[in-house]
Amino acid sequence: MIGTKRSGLAAIDLLLKYGARVRAMDSSPLTKQEESHFKFLGVPVVAQDEANIGTATMIVLSPAVPYDLPMLVAARERGIPTIGEVELSSFFLKGPVLGITGSNGKTTTTALTGHLLQRAGIPCQVGGNIGTAVTSLIDSSAAERWNVLELSSFQLESIDHFRAQVAGCLNVTPDHLDRHHTFEIYANAKARMFETQQDGDSAVLNYDDPTCRDFAGRTKAKAVWFSATQRVPNGVWLNGEDLMWDDTAFMQRSQIKLRGIHNVENVMAGAAMAHLAGAPLATIGPAVLIFPGVEHRIEFVRKLKGEEYFNDSKATNVDATLKAVDAFPSGLWIILGGKDKGSDYKPLREPLRQRAKGVLLIGAEPPYAYAAAPIIRKDLEGAIEMTDCGTMERALEYARAHATAGDTVLLSPACASYDQYSNYEERGKHFKHLVTQLL
Ligand code: ADP
Repeated sequence: MIGTKRSGLAAIDLLLKYGARVRAMDSSPLTKQEESHFKFLGVPVVAQDEANIGTATMIVLSPAVPYDLPMLVAARERGIPTIGEVELSSFFLKGPVLGITGSNGKTTTTALTGHLLQRAGIPCQVGGNIGTAVTSLIDSSAAERWNVLELSSFQLESIDHFRAQVAGCLNVTPDHLDRHHTFEIYANAKARMFETQQDGDSAVLNYDDPTCRDFAGRTKAKAVWFSATQRVPNGVWLNGEDLMWDDTAFMQRSQIKLRGIHNVENVMAGAAMAHLAGAPLATIGPAVLIFPGVEHRIEFVRKLKGEEYFNDSKATNVDATLKAVDAFPSGLWIILGGKDKGSDYKPLREPLRQRAKGVLLIGAEPPYAYAAAPIIRKDLEGAIEMTDCGTMERALEYARAHATAGDTVLLSPACASYDQYSNYEERGKHFKHLVTQLL
């Protein structure tokens, strides 16, 4: 097993249960606690090198491990099967699979689809990238119970036997190119989910996304489309205020409480997938109406003297921040900054010029090498007023002092959080904690 964190541990539990002799390896050192856990399991942790890999009869990878590591390529050339944790689970998982992928919106749509099935009384369990590793869902899987799975390109790139009876892709925009190298390779990883489908399965695809459209030609499944901009040949589309399934209006846009047109797309995809899994159309609108959304995704925090505070800490790239800005009409105070990933922030110029009153920059200061704030300042110069705040505390103090009734204070930083926080969740929680203390 390569990878010793959540998915790795789940896969090891499964392998031990079926009597495999397991050795574990990881490119980074284990903590004392992890070491004693492996001792307790009786699983030796060995060096991640060619000698150890070369003596395995099968190699199982955590999603974080690149499939094209030279020592793995060499192992495959010598005939050693190399599979991911999701592929491993597919040999044991009972019940039909509903798989959801895309560059943005996976977690929201997965949580929503699980909710739609539950409200319709259709047995299901939810997991994958969203939380519980797929191998950990095996014991609770059953013939009549849907497995609703969020799947990233990392989990899909090595699948072969894994099959989703209903598979959906929300969008494909350039992301994770550090790992997949080119957009084509990244898109090919997502395409695997459709290529392993069979006759009688369904592929739910975004009609407005050229890469998603292309997936329809790479699957045996029947294409079911969704679009927020045009009528589709078969599937869900927006007709004014009505969400339509072909010619049938099944819910109103006003029943979607989540902000932004991207969330209309997520609802369309979720509705299509839930319906294909058996949820009657009439159950969908009322269930969407009470879907609270997912923490850290344009999450409403508080209204204070007419100002509203929203946490979109999960917006770790420019595309997600653009969607968030687009979801608010005007009067925005937006907190941007963190660890830069080599992004171009210029696409934010025009939307911020139109909708924002000010940008509050946060992030570790020089000599920190990956500070985004100076790059954002350069990219947005002249379009919008910017204030260097450094910390979340100072950004919120500034926002509180300058915002007026009707304004919105939004954390949607367009950057990774690792310069000041351990992850985006910690950043979002810190923001929410500070907001609840504002007077
Ligand atoms: P993922 O699991 O794919 O990262 P999330 O649901 O966690 O997706 O959302 C990640 C970020 O992307 C959030 O900031 C969210 O507001 C934004 N987002 C959600 N859905 C979409 C979509 N369909 N298109 C573009 N951005 C989206």
